[in-house]
Amino acid sequence: MKSRLLDPLSEEARAIVSRPWEAAVRRARAERPGTPVVGVFPVFIPFEIVRASGALPLALFGGGGEVEVARADARFQSFVCSIAKTTLELGLRGDLSGLDALLFGSICDVARNLSSVFARNFSPKLHVDYIHYPQNPASPAALDWFEAELGRVLGGLAARFGKKPDEAALEEAIARQDRVRAEIRALYELRREAPARLPTFELYALLRLATALPAEEAAAVLEEARLALTAREVPARDAVRVVVEGAFCEQPPIELIRQMEEAGLAIVDDDFQVGARLFGEVPRGPERPLRRIARAFLENSVRSSVHRPAGAARPERLIERVRAARAEGVVLMAAKFCEPALLDQVLYRRALEAAKIPHLRLEFEEKQWTFERVRSEVETFVESFLFD
Ligand code: SF4
Repeated sequence: MKSRLLDPLSEEARAIVSRPWEAAVRRARAERPGTPVVGVFPVFIPFEIVRASGALPLALFGGGGEVEVARADARFQSFVCSIAKTTLELGLRGDLSGLDALLFGSICDVARNLSSVFARNFSPKLHVDYIHYPQNPASPAALDWFEAELGRVLGGLAARFGKKPDEAALEEAIARQDRVRAEIRALYELRREAPARLPTFELYALLRLATALPAEEAAAVLEEARLALTAREVPARDAVRVVVEGAFCEQPPIELIRQMEEAGLAIVDDDFQVGARLFGEVPRGPERPLRRIARAFLENSVRSSVHRPAGAARPERLIERVRAARAEGVVLMAAKFCEPALLDQVLYRRALEAAKIPHLRLEFEEKQWTFERVRSEVETFVESFLFD
């Protein structure tokens, strides 16, 4: 299914959305020869660290529906999420040979194991590193510790690429990435106010594009889309406003998102590709830039099942998001075998029931080809509002 918004975009942009490890790397090599490309799984890592090392970050969300798992099964237990298997499959097939480094964040045991499997199979040709997040972000020691951890990762990348990162490089990376995040926030705001004008399957594709482009190009693409969308004429449409929660790592097929919307939902807030808008602006001020990035990560970042900054608990924060988005319901949408998301559903359901907020639970896989069952579940959910 073609996105109307992407229609005017080039074939290359479509290829970047569906096969970024190939199309985005080819583009980077052609347009910025000599610039290293660093894969980031799956973007719970401040891109600034990669940019300050002189490299281009590239969000790696597995193989999506593009990869058949043949070799990776032998390295994992059966009950593991698809994104881990298809990411490894890409590596084993040689499809990630265009990457100079690959970073993982400590989001779950599966990501930790995947990082080790990559290090064992592909180091030293591929620089592989694993960022540890503080176990207790509220601890007074967390800021010092995380700043040092980011510095360690940056130092590793810089050594690999023969660079000497300085504060000016970090400041520039912050400014560029802040602009991208500001554009993403503006698009999310636009979608929340007028979901018919910017359906989520289009917003999703735009974000996917932005996570695979250099920051200045990503900001320009998003700004251009925002200006075009603001002027877009669309007929009014009745739909149930919902928040989607749980799809923060493995991503559903875009077609699944489109089917949900066609079945009568207006998604007005979500956690798709949430790492791309992990935090708001990095605070200004006299602190070192790395410390300010660490501070933004710990104090002002989104909350998810695999990222728990200090502050209100996740269920309470979900209820707040529902109210802020003026949503009528919630779709709890977890990837198959994603333990962090599935475990949190118990907490979310309890909180939503207490707050009398209707919710629907959907399970998905990145490699999903049929959508009839999901569509009929969504239609039943939507009808429940009509007859309530
Ligand atoms: S989908 Fe879930 S289990 Fe799999 S790597 Fe991501 S967070 Fe971990």
